[in-house]
Amino acid sequence: MESCVFCKIVRRELPSTILYENEHVMAFEDIAKMAPTHVLIIPKTHLQSVVELDSADGTLLTALQEAVVAVAKITGVYETGFRVITNVGEEAGQTVFHLHYHILGGRKLEVLLG
Ligand code: C5P
Repeated sequence: MESCVFCKIVRRELPSTILYENEHVMAFEDIAKMAPTHVLIIPKTHLQSVVELDSADGTLLTALQEAVVAVAKITGVYETGFRVITNVGEEAGQTVFHLHYHILGGRKLEVLLG
């Protein structure tokens, strides 16, 4: 999508610190880290949020799942524990409307129930 900030990152039109990438997904450091490890995992194709994923997206779902584990191992939080968050819609706090998983860790995280 032309104006989407994460599509621009995928096309290398905006800089990012990429930690992991394959033909389906990309993982890069969040520019406003909320924890020592704060990485975003995105599909390279533009989907607004997780609700747009369905049974036809098996390959992408597998790639996203593999990226979660890979990023956790690359950053070291695989051993210590981490959180996976994806916001859906404005009320949940979504500000970039391109599906992304936040991987947060590297410190004790607060209990988060909403
Ligand atoms: O879940 P939400 O949509 O609020 O998260 C968007 C995230 O994208 C924010 O944590 C923000 O810091 C990050 N971001 C980024 N690089 C950009 C624009 C936003 O890492 N160029």
